[in-house]
Amino acid sequence: DPVKAPLSKAGEAAAELKVAPNGVHVNGETSRWTPSSWTTKPIKQDVIYEDRAAVSKALAKLERCPPIVTPTEICKLKERLRDVALGKAFLLQGGDCAELFDYCNSNMIESKIKLLLQMSLVLIYGAGKPVVRIARMAGQFAKPRSSPTEQYNGRTITAFRGDNINGYDPEERAPDPSRLVSAYFHSAATSNYIRASLSSGIADLHSPLDWELGHVKEEGIKAKYETIVNSITESLSFMKTVGADTAASGLETVELYTSHEGLLLEYEQSLTRHLKKSPSPHHHHQHPPRGLPNGTHPSSPPEETKQYYNTSAHFLWIGDRTRQPDGAHIEYFRGIANPIGLKIGPSMPAADIVPLLDLLNPAHEIGKITLITRYGASAIAALLPAHIAAVQASAHAGTVIWQCDPMHGNTRSTPTGVKTRHFENILSEVGDAMRIHKDMGSFLGGVHLELTGEAVTECVGGSEGLGEGDLEGGGYKSFCDPRLNEKQALELAFLVAGGFRK
Ligand code: PEP
Ligand code: MN
Repeated sequence: DPVKAPLSKAGEAAAELKVAPNGVHVNGETSRWTPSSWTTKPIKQDVIYEDRAAVSKALAKLERCPPIVTPTEICKLKERLRDVALGKAFLLQGGDCAELFDYCNSNMIESKIKLLLQMSLVLIYGAGKPVVRIARMAGQFAKPRSSPTEQYNGRTITAFRGDNINGYDPEERAPDPSRLVSAYFHSAATSNYIRASLSSGIADLHSPLDWELGHVKEEGIKAKYETIVNSITESLSFMKTVGADTAASGLETVELYTSHEGLLLEYEQSLTRHLKKSPSPHHHHQHPPRGLPNGTHPSSPPEETKQYYNTSAHFLWIGDRTRQPDGAHIEYFRGIANPIGLKIGPSMPAADIVPLLDLLNPAHEIGKITLITRYGASAIAALLPAHIAAVQASAHAGTVIWQCDPMHGNTRSTPTGVKTRHFENILSEVGDAMRIHKDMGSFLGGVHLELTGEAVTECVGGSEGLGEGDLEGGGYKSFCDPRLNEKQALELAFLVAGGFRK
């Protein structure tokens, strides 16, 4: 059981140790990657468990459990993301800031699938290209925190760090290793229900969708949205008329991939497996099997060599607080074959981006890395251009996906201390991202959103006219970051679709 280096000492040592892009230390010592090599690096957001024996037991259990996703599915997503990086598809990623184990129920899972599906149709209409859908779901439990503690009834208690670490109940704040195992089973149950819902026709476009535009108060805006909805419904009915909606057309189901922040490295390590992609299906299998996701592209070469795959989700990302070039998280992520995201906040120096890409994608695989920018509406114009220029001037030019997360740089507190986000700021950051990329000969490849299928009141603004007063009632359900509700999320899709058509 490798010992994690204490932050201060190891931090100093790592600062002296220069790592070359190929993963070889400049002083000549080879740094071999293993699923646990991250434990020798300084780590942020670390979890200190009292009972190490219980941690070992939990991890041993997880190591015996079957993968939640397979290399074949992961490689399928990599092909899709390659298209996004090449400008041939658009990426929609969304879901809760953090899932509670309680969110593992049929209603909440179904409403998120339906919302992502509907948003993707609108974006397909707007962008005129396929949309790759990734849910922040089935494993998005751990939360990075700005402060390790908080005040509760006059005492200082450990902050809530997500259901896979401790409990929201102030009496359950001690990190509990058995939650690692619970996380796996809640993730597996959620994935199972996503797969079952898709294979049972939840995304069947033959059944009419409920677009619910009644809340849109302004007639002009409502008319615009109705135009888009009519266009989508007419296209679908046209396909039915000409018989293009036969069993093979793919109208019955869609691909939906899962993702979460790879924060809790003990967990991620235990589900990291050295595996081969299964051989491509025979060419006479014309129709891919239904479900999540569809079968392998017939043109993809059979993968002969084993690679390390994180089998807890198709896509994982590195948070803005854990992206230190010499830290544990970058070390872990550089060894896995999954497509990965890297959050880029205002504190990212432009000069750090390319060295990070060298570490994470030394082979310059197209679409392997999604750069998830989240500066804030008032900061994006000053920061994004230099970040784009740095990548353009490097060997990674044309390999990355630029995705805008308009949520995390736009969190504000109301005068009464409620965390919220203004719809106008969210929209403004996406719009600026589109414009800035275009001006620089780049393009926005996707959006990353915090949303829920429920009728919550957590973000203000949008056509429903939610104001700060609406945040005080029972509609504010997030225990973490404020999410777009189902109407706000769909409206954002309408507006982004409109932005494409400009
Ligand atoms: C998040 O996506 O919920 C998050 C914490 O983002 P970031 O790492 O960008 O702050
Ligand atoms: Mn969040």
